[in-house]
Amino acid sequence: MVVFLKHSASTPAINELIAAIKACKANAVYLQAHHVLVVTNTNQEVINLLSNNTMADSVLQIHTPYKFASVEFKNNTTFHVKGEPIGTNHFNITAGPCSVESEEQIFETASFLHKNNIRFIRGGAYKPRTSPYTFKGLGLQGLKLIREAANHYNLIVVTELLDLKLLDEVYEYADILQVGSRNMSNFYMLTELGKIDKPVLLKRGMSAKISEWLLAADYILSGGNEKLILCERGIRSFDTELRNVLDIGGISLVKELSHLPVWADPSHATGKAGLVKPAALAAAAAGANGLMIEIHPNPEKALSDARQAVDFNTFENILSDLSHIMQLHAQKFQNISA
Ligand code: PEP
Ligand code: MN
Repeated sequence: MVVFLKHSASTPAINELIAAIKACKANAVYLQAHHVLVVTNTNQEVINLLSNNTMADSVLQIHTPYKFASVEFKNNTTFHVKGEPIGTNHFNITAGPCSVESEEQIFETASFLHKNNIRFIRGGAYKPRTSPYTFKGLGLQGLKLIREAANHYNLIVVTELLDLKLLDEVYEYADILQVGSRNMSNFYMLTELGKIDKPVLLKRGMSAKISEWLLAADYILSGGNEKLILCERGIRSFDTELRNVLDIGGISLVKELSHLPVWADPSHATGKAGLVKPAALAAAAAGANGLMIEIHPNPEKALSDARQAVDFNTFENILSDLSHIMQLHAQKFQNISA
């Protein structure tokens, strides 16, 4: 349960209450950002204790291990980035290369997105690569290039924070900081991202259960950063024909369990350019609030994830088919008109 404390509750009094809760064999953690106690392992004794306590303003029973991400905590999230609404009642498209490779590549992509009224550009500057012998991104130069291209075309930059030591640098150039699949369980990173004032896109760990993904979300939300987007990017299975398995049912389920916007990444989910469109359409039909798609002006020449990069014509074709699904959702998504 979440116990909302009165403004007047002082630190010594809160500590006393925590000790009393622990004496009932339950556990309590104080979260300064929300001025609440999260109580776990609750029992009747704790409920009695809290109902008679003068410091507790109100108590919210949340039945899942994750609290702040739960739909029992609140039922809708909306926030704005550079005037663009993001949330449970909106649909946003982000596209761009896997990696920022050159000025020409990123400006060509930005100009193409601008022409198609897409506001969000993605592109990695620091890349998590399985092999240490492959292209790992342009680093700071890549961040500067994507920022310049975005500024030129009034776009919003989504880029990955690969390591906590890069936080200040990535914070400076990004509008939305992406936590990659490999870092979903990097709890120190998540804790720090709970303290910043820029939105975070939290990808699902490739082996993460939905409950683990939502607990990872709680690390960020409980720290006070409520600008959070979840992104389903496929999970590993026994079958290696596809890069991953896009959890379509999981998208719909998380929409029921959580108030957070859920985006989908059909590129990393399938690993094949030809399958990005059906996966994108399926995710949108399942109720996703957005898509993140890897596109490249010249896919064969891409320095990372070339096989899943779609060319500009194919991307326009995806947009056109998506518009049919968006008509079905038009009443739900406030930024879509039928
Ligand atoms: C990416 O989006 O560039 C990326 C590396 O994705 P993921 O973390 O999902 O593998
Ligand atoms: Mn990629």
